[in-house]
Amino acid sequence: MASSHTVLMRLVASAYSIAQKAGTIVRHVIAEGDLGIVEKTSATDLQTKADRLVQMSICSSLARKFPKLTIIGEELVVWVDPLDGTKEYTEGLLDNVTVLIGIAYEGKAIAGIINQPYYNYQAGPDAVLGRTIWGVLGLGAFGFQLKEVPAGKHIITTTRSHSNKLVTDCVTAMNPDDVLRVGGAGNKIIQLIEGKASAYVFASPGCKKWDTCAPEVILHAVGGKLTDIHGNALQYNKEVKHMNSAGVLATLRNYDYYASRVPESVKNALVP
Ligand code: AMP
Ligand code: MG
Ligand code: MG
Repeated sequence: MASSHTVLMRLVASAYSIAQKAGTIVRHVIAEGDLGIVEKTSATDLQTKADRLVQMSICSSLARKFPKLTIIGEELVVWVDPLDGTKEYTEGLLDNVTVLIGIAYEGKAIAGIINQPYYNYQAGPDAVLGRTIWGVLGLGAFGFQLKEVPAGKHIITTTRSHSNKLVTDCVTAMNPDDVLRVGGAGNKIIQLIEGKASAYVFASPGCKKWDTCAPEVILHAVGGKLTDIHGNALQYNKEVKHMNSAGVLATLRNYDYYASRVPESVKNALVP
């Protein structure tokens, strides 16, 4: 057990610097100007040169530092989203973009690293860009200041580029004071922990395990909760289906308020 703790902390420390390097690649591709956009399954499911370069960078760095990772891979699984919010990245909404490295042990998300390459980009040309938020279950989450939405306010954050009727039906049922439509699963969890939104509501398939693993840990480490739309915990073992077929419901506080308002029709349409 002692040695697995050591491996975990070495992995978290490495993932922190690997995620920072990833952030510099994300900025470099934009600065160069050629995004190399490829459509994966549709016009809203994109891949850019940054997705490809960061994926390669993260995987080769991890393989170099942890050659045995595949051997312990049965228990320890790393979920990587090289670029979360690719659609928004291609449209210049740069602060929506994050690099996500999530670590799961025996199917449970236990450590997460989020690099936000364009944090601070509206602060002027001299601003230092980028930050890394990280967390380990039972230890805490770091690299940001925890803030809550004012009591009694229901501010929902949801998808900007992958909406449909189920998504909007579910958001409406929450009786929101305000609805924010932004890109990225990482970005929406950052909104929850920084007091910009009270619930992340996405009643649709589309979001994958690599989108939720790291963000879920950060949220759980500060007392929040992320589940599918039915209230089921997400599993992150190696064999699990990649798609979060039953959507995402996440809050920092008052999870039950939002969970109790998910319409039956929405639940019936989303099979886990
Ligand atoms: P969004 O909130 O739309 O930015 O989605 C969060 C994450 O889930 C991003 O990585 C998206 O690419 C992914 N995602 C959500 N819905 C879809 C979809 N319909 N097709 C492809 N990817 C999706
Ligand atoms: Mg993503
Ligand atoms: Mg991605």
